Amino acid sequence: MGAIKIDEVVRSRRKTIALVVQPDGRLVVRAPLRVSQKIIDAFVISKADWIEKSRQSQVARRKFFPKRSFASGELFWYLGKQYPIKVVKSQRPVFQFQLGFSLDENALPQAKKQFEKWYRDQARLYLNERVVHYARLYNFHYQKIRVSSARTRWGSCSARGTLSFTWRLIMSPPEIIDYVVIHELAHTIHHNHSPQFWGLVGSILPDYAEKRKWLKHNSHLFHWD
Ligand SMILES: [Zn+2]
Repeated sequence: MGAIKIDEVVRSRRKTIALVVQPDGRLVVRAPLRVSQKIIDAFVISKADWIEKSRQSQVARRKFFPKRSFASGELFWYLGKQYPIKVVKSQRPVFQFQLGFSLDENALPQAKKQFEKWYRDQARLYLNERVVHYARLYNFHYQKIRVSSARTRWGSCSARGTLSFTWRLIMSPPEIIDYVVIHELAHTIHHNHSPQFWGLVGSILPDYAEKRKWLKHNSHLFHWD
């Protein structure tokens, strides 16, 4: 078996060795402070198949999610629907949405930032409204709402009752957003995924299992970076 190149070793106070294959294929090893290079090398070799598979899936992923060009006609998700972008001349504000996105050509280099800012603003307004609505309706008490940039979690609820939602959620359909909102509000009462927790979610949203399934199978659609 050929040697596997390790691109970076990050040591920390962790207890186990973990491997990360980054989107560009680099292999990063996360290791405890005192573990020897020999043990790291042996671990990496024992995971050769997994590393190869991960690299292949990263390549497939890059094909599936080609880099965004922000060229006119490219589609972007908002509340479960796709809207095209149009690159225009001399427009103020440079980024606008009216049943489609329009972007001033001079702002193209910042297109991604413009989108993220807009998504984040919409997410803040929309999620705030939905949380207030359900909290009033079902008498939930929460501290505050935070809009995060989390990539893999749609929402979370802290022990103190801060509800966090990723701005990426605003790309998904309203009924899915409602499910995530209800899910996190239910965590203000049950800080776990016990049968009692799911019972509470189900009492508000009887078909929550379908929404969960939908998210699991479709969240790749809202892949951003
Ligand atoms: Zn949960």
